[in-house]
Amino acid sequence: MSGKQILVVEDERPIREMIAYGLRRAGFEVREAEDCRSARAQLADRRPDLLLLDWMLPDLSGLELAKQLKRDRGTSDLPIILLTARAEESDKVAGLEGGADDYMTKPFSPRELVARVNAVLRRGIHGGSEDRIDLHGLTLDRASHRVTAGDRVVPLGPTEYRMLEFFITHPERVYTREQLLDRVWGGNVYVEERTVDVHIRRLRKVLEEHGCDHLVQTVRGAGYRFSALAP
Ligand code: CA
Repeated sequence: MSGKQILVVEDERPIREMIAYGLRRAGFEVREAEDCRSARAQLADRRPDLLLLDWMLPDLSGLELAKQLKRDRGTSDLPIILLTARAEESDKVAGLEGGADDYMTKPFSPRELVARVNAVLRRGIHGGSEDRIDLHGLTLDRASHRVTAGDRVVPLGPTEYRMLEFFITHPERVYTREQLLDRVWGGNVYVEERTVDVHIRRLRKVLEEHGCDHLVQTVRGAGYRFSALAP
């Protein structure tokens, strides 16, 4: 697949090389930068399809660079995955909203990285507007508002359908209850966060009949994620 180009910005060389190696093996073309200055120069030289950006860099934080790039019209739609260390994770998903499309906590496996990269690239290409999406054995058909598993229809209530639609179009990243309320119910509706758990349970129950309930994963202390990888 692929031929897509990824710019990896990471000052720790062993980590950068490990990431680059994993991505090249998966068919990506990889360029490397060790700080934000070098990343800027490479971005000006040629625009990659995705930026993997470490949070802690010697000259400027990755988050700050991400924010700058999102503000700049020429790079505002460049997909960015921010890499963080455990210690920085307390800053949380919310803090990343301004800059990154996704974030990953180190250490991660090359397989997990490739899955995330593909998920973010897919999101970018289709902008979430495709009529029919196949993912992990489920087919979402937006025209008919229907989800099928193989040739069986997955019987979903309207909220579970919207929730599953959101998950299928935004796989591999964690969403807090608040974010799910926003994206699935819409910002103006007053619903308690607990309601999200209720609908997650219903959704899992339906998916269980089709052997797909493991795709809706609970991430402790954070929220929920749609993924076929082991949690
Ligand atoms: Ca670093």
